[in-house]
Parts: sequence; C-alpha cells; structure tokens
Amino acid sequence: MRKQTRLVAYGLCGMVLTTMVKYGLQDNFTSESRYTKAKWKAKSMSAIQACEEDEWRKRLSEGDDGARPWYRAIKRQWGTEAYLGMGGNSSAATRGRRLMAQMRTSPAPLPPLHRHQPRLHPTPICQHCELNQPDDQTHALSACTLHRLDRDRLFDMVENEWQLGSQYALPWWCNETTQWCDMSGEQKAHWLLRQSEPRMCATITAFISALFTTRVAAAAAASLFVAEAVVAAGPAAEAANSSVASDGQ
Ligand SMILES: [Zn+2]
Repeated sequence: MRKQTRLVAYGLCGMVLTTMVKYGLQDNFTSESRYTKAKWKAKSMSAIQACEEDEWRKRLSEGDDGARPWYRAIKRQWGTEAYLGMGGNSSAATRGRRLMAQMRTSPAPLPPLHRHQPRLHPTPICQHCELNQPDDQTHALSACTLHRLDRDRLFDMVENEWQLGSQYALPWWCNETTQWCDMSGEQKAHWLLRQSEPRMCATITAFISALFTTRVAAAAAASLFVAEAVVAAGPAAEAANSSVASDGQ
C-alpha cells in the first residue's frame, strides 16, 4: 500500500482562511477588495463581536447547575458592565466593585455559596437575624433584618425611580415585565444586581459594601460576646464544679 504524502502548507494563508471561516468572513478571502481599510476594519470587528457574543450566549445558556441560573437572571446583555468602570481607584471603590462582582457571579462571602467549606461555614442559615433563612444573596439583599435601615433607604430610592419610570414611561421601565411592588425577594435581588444607570448603580454598590461591613462588625461583636460570656461563666462554672465535687464527698 502506498504511503500517502501529507501536503505541507507554507505561509499564513491557511491560518488566515481558518480564522476568516470562523468569523464568517471567508467570502472576503481574496487578493483584491472593494473595502477601504477603515471599512474592512469595521466589518471584521463587527463579525468578530457577533461571533463572540454568539459563543457567550451559548455558554451562558448551557446547564442549570451551580451559579449559572442566578447569573443568567442578572446578566442580560453581552459586554462589560458599567459598574466595573465606576468609582475610581480608591480601596473603597475597588472593594465595592469586587463585592458587586461576587454578588453577581456568586463567590460572595455568604455561607450557602461556600458549601464546600463546611468548617468555615457550618450552617447555610443566616446567623445575623431570626428569619431562619439561607444566608444567600436574596436573603442578604432583600430580607435580612440586620440591614433593615440601610435597605429601607435604598428601597425608598428604588421605589422613587420606579415612580419616575412609570410617570415618564422611561425606556428601562417599558422593558420591565414585573413591577417592583410585585417582585419576589429574589426578583428584587436580581433587579438590584443588574442595574447599570450610574447613580443607581453607585447607590446599590454602596449598599452592598455597607452590608458586608455591617456583617463583619456583627460577627466580631458576636464572637466578643461569646468570649465575654465564657469569661463571665468562669467563676460560676468553677463554683458549680466544686458543689458537684462536694456533693460527691
Ligand atoms: Zn439574616
């Protein structure tokens, strides 16, 4: 049997053709063109963007496991989110952006999002309030009573925005399918995390930053309380132990 000779390709033409096929531009793989450089640049960039957006939508729609459904409910448009470019370079602004990203994509420091670390997070239930709910994004943003005052102020502002949206039939309001007052806690959390209007986005980011600051302070106060209770129980426990010992004598 004759051994087949593999053809060798020289130059970049093969790679260029493969790339152009990938982006649907293969009809333009010619030695001549009607396009100016600027027009060709615009056409190729548009084709690349459309292809990447298509791939992104496919990836986003795949699977219902983990954090995907949550992220799908928030991320509706392809492209860089407005909040990532807001607030400047201060450590507070960087922290706000980081926490916003973590709340959107789900690695936020909330127990149910870290089930693989049972030692660090022994229970998914919120330890900051009495509602006995899983301490996830929905609970933290929409329900946890620890943040009631900050949330009341935020929700007042949000309700005001909705009123303006309704009054002037603003484009964003026209695109909403459920009114704020009819939304569940989860829908409100989704709505808060997908805002891109600068003022609203800055207010929500500040609320999220304050939320985690309050939680850290509450956890520190709780552990201090436990430590003090142990110290306070020391002599009593000692006395109880000696009575037991005396009873036994
Ligand atoms: Zn709570």
